[in-house]
Amino acid sequence: MTAAWAVPFVTIALTQTAVIATSIYLHRALAHRSLDLHPIADVAFRVALWLTTGQCRRQWVAVHRKHHTFTDRPGDPHSPRLLGFWRVQLFNVAYYMREARNAKTLEAFAPDLQPDRLDRLLFSRGYLGIGIGLSLLCMLIGLWAGLIAGLLHAGLYVFVMAPLINALGHWRGSKNFENTAYNWRLLAWITGGESLHNNHHAHPRSAKFSVRRSEFDPSWPIIRSLAMAGLLVISGPPVAWARVAAGRCTP
Ligand SMILES: [Zn+2]
Ligand SMILES: [Zn+2]
Repeated sequence: MTAAWAVPFVTIALTQTAVIATSIYLHRALAHRSLDLHPIADVAFRVALWLTTGQCRRQWVAVHRKHHTFTDRPGDPHSPRLLGFWRVQLFNVAYYMREARNAKTLEAFAPDLQPDRLDRLLFSRGYLGIGIGLSLLCMLIGLWAGLIAGLLHAGLYVFVMAPLINALGHWRGSKNFENTAYNWRLLAWITGGESLHNNHHAHPRSAKFSVRRSEFDPSWPIIRSLAMAGLLVISGPPVAWARVAAGRCTP
């Protein structure tokens, strides 16, 4: 049975699940090691990302660490300063894929994330994850509604959410710290906090991306809840907003 009314809600739920899992798991836990996850949380995030994005965790981490190493300098995989805003906005996925397929990048920037048994068995097969995710979606809300919601989600994740951070986040916006990234407080509400990108580049090991009371990092209450449930440990230091407001917190 097709449930057309469900399409916008399911699309938003899928995209937010993928965005939050990317931010908490791939970005904060793996790339920057600011969270230590319980094995149950680790597998849950991997399953969620496999079904909603099909991404390989080692590739994501390597490309992102390279971005931090060469931020807006030659070597940055997706800098709008080097490539132009619209090229990164429209073709961010192509720049990402080019770097993700570079074996030297994976070896140099993610030597700690060698494929494990679950990767070899399941998670390295990205298209299988997307196929199973899409099939479950169609069983849940009907064939056409499922296909449309899946397609809308893929378009939003690949062509809106990721470029909002990689293109706009290095192009224009506001700043708390002196670096080449920018904050977008309102957009942070829909990007899992990732649009507080100026804060993140100043304090990449901080598990919390907001530093002022006017900023909200939607991933942070989820991280706190998982920490209270014993499913993760916050190992990176959160940045106190009061220290920033007092001007004592510089990069
Ligand atoms: Zn950046
Ligand atoms: Zn980062």
